[in-house]
Amino acid sequence: MAPLPNAFVTLLTNSSYLPGALVLLHSLQDLHPAPRNFKIVCLVTPETVDAHAIGVLRTAGYDLVIGVEPIASGASGQQGLQLMGRPDLDIALTKLHIFRLQSLFSTIVYLDADTLPLRPLDQLFESTSPHRFSASPDIGWPDCFNSGVMVIRPQLSDFKALQATLAEHADSGSGNGSFDGADQGLLNEYFSEDGPGGPWNRLPFTYNVTPSAAYQYAPAYKHYAHKINLIHFIGPNKPWKWLSSRQASSTPPPATAFDYESLLDRWFTVYDRHVRPTAAHEPNLAKRF
Ligand code: UDP
Ligand code: MN
Repeated sequence: MAPLPNAFVTLLTNSSYLPGALVLLHSLQDLHPAPRNFKIVCLVTPETVDAHAIGVLRTAGYDLVIGVEPIASGASGQQGLQLMGRPDLDIALTKLHIFRLQSLFSTIVYLDADTLPLRPLDQLFESTSPHRFSASPDIGWPDCFNSGVMVIRPQLSDFKALQATLAEHADSGSGNGSFDGADQGLLNEYFSEDGPGGPWNRLPFTYNVTPSAAYQYAPAYKHYAHKINLIHFIGPNKPWKWLSSRQASSTPPPATAFDYESLLDRWFTVYDRHVRPTAAHEPNLAKRF
């Protein structure tokens, strides 16, 4: 039997993150010229993402757009989400569906729709072997990983165990089994020294650099700038929030600048090159941005 392909997978649970999913796709394509020996996949929740957006993802070049059921944090997860100040992440648990893709893909690099790869990432498919789960530290609590970038070898047993944890807690009134109410808390308990999934394999921070967080170690940004593999725009202010107020720019930022504004410019460079020209012809789409 031929081995299963590898895949980059992202998630879209509503149309407002569509610009992110498109910029991510084009960055991956630009950084990995064809022929590519992996698929680029988007999970969508057809209940909350309209058919037009799904069509745009397909036309733009996603190899596969897979419809999945939303997995919500529910009332019991709200306490953690409120503490984080992100009640909008109620539906982020939907990304757990990546663990169910074991019949389609051998290794999955999951990337949030608000990530911007800056260097090729396909080496992760091999370099993380044989680990079941790899991720980079979270800047808010570096003993935890950030669940916006994860390399997994999908196993249905993990999906079932994670789902069972959520179900167990749903009626207990003590949260939903995730200490932050979303996927990151749940996954950090599961893939830990004491958890059923065992300890996570630590990837360098360069695979999930989060410049939108409050604290930045500026000299390290300068020193390691050339090694940054991926930028992740965590928090409520996503790059596409500024879309309506930003004109297309013809001068890309210098590749050596790694302050927050320059990194934001890099996201817009990809957007202006690949997405803005098509969005301009889609008045309905442009309105939603
Ligand atoms: N997501 C989405 N629509 C939403 C919220 C989340 O499509 O309204 C998806 C998207 O892939 C996003 C991921 O879930 O990148 C996790 O949410 P987010 O990136 O906002 O969390 P953060 O990285 O800020 O903690
Ligand atoms: Mn994110």
